[in-house]
Amino acid sequence: MPRNDIAVVGAGLVGALVATLLTQRGFRVTVYEKRPDPRLAGFSGGRSINLALAERGLHALRATGLADQVLGQAVMMRGRMVHDPAGHSGLQRYGVDDSEVIWSVSRGGLNTLMLDAAEAAGATIHFGQGLAGADFERGTLTLHAADGSERTVEAPVVIGADGAGSALRAAMHRHAPLGERVEELGHGYKELEIPPGSDPGAPFAIERNALHIWPRGHYMCIALPNREGSFTVTLFLPNEGEHPSFRTIAGAGAAEAFFRTEFPDALDLMPDFAADWSEHPVGSLATLYLDRWHIGGRALLIGDAAHAIVPFHGQGMNCGFEDAAELATLFAATPGDPAAVFAAFEATRKPNADAIAQMALENYVEMRDKVADPRFLRMRELGGLLAQRSPTHYLPRYRMVTFTHLPYAYALERGRAQDTLVEQLLKGHDDVASVDLDAAVRTLEATLPPLPPLL
Ligand code: FAD
Repeated sequence: MPRNDIAVVGAGLVGALVATLLTQRGFRVTVYEKRPDPRLAGFSGGRSINLALAERGLHALRATGLADQVLGQAVMMRGRMVHDPAGHSGLQRYGVDDSEVIWSVSRGGLNTLMLDAAEAAGATIHFGQGLAGADFERGTLTLHAADGSERTVEAPVVIGADGAGSALRAAMHRHAPLGERVEELGHGYKELEIPPGSDPGAPFAIERNALHIWPRGHYMCIALPNREGSFTVTLFLPNEGEHPSFRTIAGAGAAEAFFRTEFPDALDLMPDFAADWSEHPVGSLATLYLDRWHIGGRALLIGDAAHAIVPFHGQGMNCGFEDAAELATLFAATPGDPAAVFAAFEATRKPNADAIAQMALENYVEMRDKVADPRFLRMRELGGLLAQRSPTHYLPRYRMVTFTHLPYAYALERGRAQDTLVEQLLKGHDDVASVDLDAAVRTLEATLPPLPPLL
């Protein structure tokens, strides 16, 4: 196998993107995917039906020329539409205007577009070929086909994009321990559906251009729009413990009673609630930490295989896309030295993966609890005013993560410093209107250095 041959395990979102980007840079890429081709067999993702695409992911897609096509299939989400227990709702915008929005995309539709792009760029994808083992001394992979047959292929340089349950990670760990730690969240999720309404001119039963949230303290529902007018609703709830938990809500009848009390307005929009509840499994949520992501220049993990996170910042795929773009840039700069590329990749990306893992966990508390908390709303309001008055010195953390390419680790650190300052400025104030804004801006600019250039 010549030196510029690269094998990729997994043709999911990240594997298809990295295959495209590396092929475009002159590498000969062969991809091995366990599932059958979803374009022929239909998509069976096993994860969320739709997901939120933000600037980091879009930026990587722009490099492949796919961004416009993806946006053409997406639904814009301007902010969080928060639904309170009394049935009132209000929009909390994510950014300043429609230049700062996120996009709801279909996982299956996106994967299909990306597989087409990888093949059009020249990558070879073998479907129905699951990785069963790897020999990193010999530079070979063992692949298992659906008919039970096995074969061994040469792959001196292999990238594992085979998701949270990565088989390549397991093989690497057997070769040399990676320092793996999995922290279960203790909460799971179940997907339900609000179908399109009967009026084809206005099929969306609730506001189309928003990510809907029903925050209820220790648990919540969210809903993301789909193009044809439906919404994918996801309930996040503790797995065990006191009611309500997935353990205490045994069947569809109990679930319906729970929704009737906690989410009555959402329940009214779900005619197939009982069937969805019975048929859809409870998904598990965890954060994966590794000390090492690569074995010399032989194998490297990216995307969820390296750093699966909980979904509450909507950044798992976006972060994986940033991984793919960074890796392709490093490979293009040092094509003959995968060991150097992998070491540089791990050094740059690991602190950022750790930071988004942390922020995703924090965002669960924010979404299910704080979006309805007056103190949090005051902090947000003052933060928004400071961002308007001093855009060189203040940018809310959510916007740094979602609408810029500032490293996640920077967003985490700067966000903490900004929060500390805003808390100090709000001390003794029950109302943001009573804060002296001119003095607050002077304190901000004297305390924190200017932000780095954005984008
Ligand atoms: P995957 O998407 O898991 O793809 C892995 C691929 O590898 C699959 O095609 C699989 O079949 C293949 N594979 C597995 N094992 C083998 C094997 N042995 N051999 C060969 N191939 C194999 N992220 C966002 O950015 N925004 C969101 O809004 C968002 N929402 C989410 C909601 C939920 C409920 C969940 C669970 C996740 C969400 N995420 C979101 C995270 C996102 O789904 C993941 O970060 C993303 O799918 C990671 O892509 P990946 O390609 O690394 O892994």
